[in-house]
Amino acid sequence: MSTAFTEPACQPPPPAVQEDSNPAGCVLVAEDDPLYRRALQRFLTRKGYTVQLVSNGLQALADATSPDAPRLLILDWMMPGLPGPEVCRRLRSIPRERYQYILLLTAKHTTADIVEGLEAGADDYLTKPFNIQEFFARVRVGQRMIRLQDRLLAAQEALRFQATHDPLTGIWNRGALFELLRAEAERVQRKATSLSLFLIDLDNFKRMNDEFGHLAGDAILHEVAQRLSAAVRLYDIVGRYGGEEFIVAAAELESERPHQFAERLRLAISSCPIRTSDTSVSVSVSIGVATSDGFVECSIEKLIQIADAALYEAKRKGRNRVEMAHPAA
Ligand code: GH3
Ligand code: MG
Ligand code: MG
Ligand code: MG
Repeated sequence: MSTAFTEPACQPPPPAVQEDSNPAGCVLVAEDDPLYRRALQRFLTRKGYTVQLVSNGLQALADATSPDAPRLLILDWMMPGLPGPEVCRRLRSIPRERYQYILLLTAKHTTADIVEGLEAGADDYLTKPFNIQEFFARVRVGQRMIRLQDRLLAAQEALRFQATHDPLTGIWNRGALFELLRAEAERVQRKATSLSLFLIDLDNFKRMNDEFGHLAGDAILHEVAQRLSAAVRLYDIVGRYGGEEFIVAAAELESERPHQFAERLRLAISSCPIRTSDTSVSVSVSIGVATSDGFVECSIEKLIQIADAALYEAKRKGRNRVEMAHPAA
């Protein structure tokens, strides 16, 4: 055993970079040699890692592919069940959003072995017996890679959100709204069911801006979006169509008829004044409703066009009301 790991002599370990002082996280260690297994567990636990230990390759593959598998894997090369490189190959053939960093431990040390291990999908390797300081330095490299990928994924997610959401109200923006509406229209067409589209326009909003200021107007738009979102089912679509106009789309309304649904949306806005930073404003909306019957092909553009005609009617008849599109519109 004394030849397996060389503990640091009197030299202090090099200072770790800042991010390495973060909580260590979970590591999967697959090692069939009981001495190595115990020693790896002891070293890693002492450094604060949570260690998941297995002693054969098949178990390693099963654990590494479980839903909340560790991101950092330390795999022995020669193990019963499956050798380390084969575990790597199979893991890499399964698409995963979160990358798993693999450090291969091996008594094999020829260039051909190393090439084979890396080609199989390992990120790094360490030949036994190894120096424990070097081992931890390599484990920290793995952690840096994992953190880097996490940051990239988070940035990607933030960009995706920005590209699809309206910054003022937090609901779908026009581009995302149209994509979702088209997909929903196709879905209801396939299922021969119906889609109701509600075009919702704030009443006399220009006057509110003039009276209370643009910032109060923004706060009102934000609150209207929240109230609409809270009033619909989880799978309904709520987006900002433009300025002070919103679209809600609801497929397969069962317990309510489209008119009742629209009345509920209208009341969600008008029944309680909206508080802005320094005042409280009574707000109302007019709603035009168009419903596809599920049998005749009906484009989103057409649905919006007939909902818009109904909305115009609602405005003409005095606002703060719901108008249904004429079926023959
Ligand atoms: P109507 O009842 O006929 O719909 O009247 P309206 O005043 O609501 O309609 P109009 O189209 O005349 O005015 C819409 C106003 O909405 C004008 C525009 O300045 C305002 N608006 C559009 N987008 C925003 C926004 O993001 N923030 C604020 N504060 N106002 C906005
Ligand atoms: Mg082994
Ligand atoms: Mg308008
Ligand atoms: Mg308006």
